[in-house]
Amino acid sequence: MADLHTSIPASLKVALEDEVRRTKSTISSVVSAALSQYLAMPVHTLFQVSTSGALVAGIYDREVCVRSILQHGDFGLGTFANLDGEMIVLDGKVYQMQGTGRVSEASPDAGTPFAVVTQFDPQIDVETEPVASFEDLENCCDKHRNSGNIFYAIRLDGRFKRVHTRIVNPPQPGTRLVDAARAQSEFSFSDIGGTIVGLWSPGFSSAFSIAGYHFHFLSKDRDHGGHLLDVEAGPLRLQVEALTDFHLALPESEAFLKADLSKNTAEELAYAERAHQENGNA
Ligand SMILES: [Zn+2]
Repeated sequence: MADLHTSIPASLKVALEDEVRRTKSTISSVVSAALSQYLAMPVHTLFQVSTSGALVAGIYDREVCVRSILQHGDFGLGTFANLDGEMIVLDGKVYQMQGTGRVSEASPDAGTPFAVVTQFDPQIDVETEPVASFEDLENCCDKHRNSGNIFYAIRLDGRFKRVHTRIVNPPQPGTRLVDAARAQSEFSFSDIGGTIVGLWSPGFSSAFSIAGYHFHFLSKDRDHGGHLLDVEAGPLRLQVEALTDFHLALPESEAFLKADLSKNTAEELAYAERAHQENGNA
């Protein structure tokens, strides 16, 4: 959040105070809402392209480009056309993390079939306890979520003892996500500085989104990363933003318009999002 000191006509100040009393909110939130409307800049809004169900069904073609993703947010997650790696959006830059382990800044013209971004503006900024596992990380973040029915954007920065990630490799066109996920590359890093970009989505959103936590990692030197499978770290800086607006942009491609997306894909998605070590897959 940034501070604003300004002069306004006395009549507007009276009206502003009336509105604060009427809505039982704060000057800050009324001014933010008014400016957001006037400047057509949504705040605390998650912007998503396509649905997780479409991704699960194998709709991986380019739907929008990186340039337009950045118009809707500076922070988030996603993947690239033909499932060519994991996307992480951090500080207004989009990085492509490919199955070879290569990490590069994506060109503005690169295409994506699925991405979720927001203009990151955290209300919470704290230091966590040391984190011993993925479950521990979830528990740390849980402490700063006061609802199970809205979305949250989460950023963690610091030094990591151990990070285990996976990166998808491009499958044959039309392969369902659950099969594509079997050909993922996995990476382990130790004693590494970096950032975790995370989103938490409510259970009811599983029809179109990835319910629960979804984290991607990017190293401080921007050379390593991936979809987070496991983690161990000392205290981390944790920033959390509650998101109460959601914008879903549906693709207009032939593949999306003609696909049968009526099936509940939450289980297949949960499998694709998890670690596969238990099955011995690479
Ligand atoms: Zn991911």
